[in-house]
Amino acid sequence: MLQQQIDNLRQEPIPPQSLFIGGKWQTAEAGGSLDVASPIDGSRLTTIADADAFDVDRAVQAARTAFDKGTWSRAAPAERKKVLHRIADFIEKHALELAVLGVRDNGTEISMALKAEPGSAAGTFRYYAEAIDKVYGEIAPTAENVLGLVHREPIGVVGAIVPWNFPMMIGAWKIAPALAAGNSVVLKPAETASLSLLRLAELCTEAGLPDGVFNVVTGRGAVAGEALGLHMDVDVLAFTGSGGVGRRLLEYSARSNLKRVYLELGGKSPNIVFADAPDLDRAAKVAAYGIFRNSGQVCVAGSRLLVERSIHDAFAEKVAAIAAGMKVGDPLDTATEAGAINSAEQLSKTLSHVEKAVSEGASLKTGGKRILEETGGFYMAPAVLDAVRSDMTLACEEAFGPVLAVMPFGDEAEAVRIANATTYGLASAVWTANLSRAHRMVREIRAGVVHVNTYGGADVTVPLGGVKQSGNGHDKSLHALDKYTDLKTAWISLS
Ligand code: NAD
Repeated sequence: MLQQQIDNLRQEPIPPQSLFIGGKWQTAEAGGSLDVASPIDGSRLTTIADADAFDVDRAVQAARTAFDKGTWSRAAPAERKKVLHRIADFIEKHALELAVLGVRDNGTEISMALKAEPGSAAGTFRYYAEAIDKVYGEIAPTAENVLGLVHREPIGVVGAIVPWNFPMMIGAWKIAPALAAGNSVVLKPAETASLSLLRLAELCTEAGLPDGVFNVVTGRGAVAGEALGLHMDVDVLAFTGSGGVGRRLLEYSARSNLKRVYLELGGKSPNIVFADAPDLDRAAKVAAYGIFRNSGQVCVAGSRLLVERSIHDAFAEKVAAIAAGMKVGDPLDTATEAGAINSAEQLSKTLSHVEKAVSEGASLKTGGKRILEETGGFYMAPAVLDAVRSDMTLACEEAFGPVLAVMPFGDEAEAVRIANATTYGLASAVWTANLSRAHRMVREIRAGVVHVNTYGGADVTVPLGGVKQSGNGHDKSLHALDKYTDLKTAWISLS
């Protein structure tokens, strides 16, 4: 039944897409467009508008006008809450349509996309809908003759720039708290994953979000993204993507209006398995799924598997066997466990990571080759590389694909050393039955999250963010509201 519905939706033609500015579809001023290739079969799926600085300026002006008008920014939080809940209702009502559209664009397997994209986006809108009328200001503990009131205010126009791996989920992590707090948003999706976010913008308007409060400009990062980053009337940049682009955003801020820049970047996350892990079979399965779902295109993927030497050989074999048995292929087949790589360019980058690792001395245990080439799609067999050392490129650079580096360690101290030996600090995990060791590892590992006896679990109630070069802000949880609100003090004399 579900498969039949998916197969019907996958046939639907996708018309050329416009920009969503001021609550309306608008063409790019210069009329440019970009082809969107299907990761499923390499065919031309549709086109998106190729926004330039002029278009970005129109979107920012629409956002500013809406903000200044106050219909949204000054609405009672309880009013905003109603609209945010309606947006969540609309996402849920259109969940399958949104998920299939997103998968046709970015290649994530539908079993994961259904949960992680519309499913999680709707939950995120509901979470911030419920939160926003429970956020209070403060009365400061001043001297008796003054009253110090601390107000929380929306900041203004938020520019959000997001990647292609989970566009709706990551988009919602930024849009929902920003809107809940009363800001206006201009969102720039990735070139290869814009479609579901354009549809989301339309649904937000249908749900009652005033025109101009949420705008989507599609196009190239170096053009539309740069224009948003440099815009003098954007107050906050909320970014998820690579460290290279994150650095540029900091420069844009310095060169323009010192807008705040929040960065959620990449990772090279260690998944550490001790010999006393409670269930090694489960640990092996979770380790494989923790890197290979969505074909490794997951920021928190456990891409380095650190295994205690006494169990290393057997454990690496187990993980390689699970990887070799994974069902990779058509992302719109509900049985698929790892879908397509997002683009031909990303596929070739990922394959070259494998080649380089082998040339530096790693041993390829399984996968690492392009597969299903006859479909025209971008598929790769999950790669497990053993005998990887901390000085190899694969141990340091994010492949952002289905590539697992297995690294043996001798004792706890060595595990910590290897775990922390990268410039990243996003996610991690430790598998052990020793409670004291688990707590020690949680303290010692430099990462935004340390999982214990699991990998990758999370929800909207806990913050997601990195340390070191994995970023400087947190999405999700009540802490995310800090990024989208300003504190204002009223200092009132009572004398
Ligand atoms: P990317 O940095 O190439 O692109 C991200 C976004 O930035 C896209 O919208 C792109 O168009 C835009 N962009 C590109 N060049 C730009 C420029 N010069 N100025 C402004 N914007 C520009 O990243 P990607 O390849 O789409 O995504 C993969 C990366 O995202 C990986 O590093 C991954 O780890 C990271 N990621 C992090 C998280 C997290 O929560 N920490 C989540 C998902 C992905």
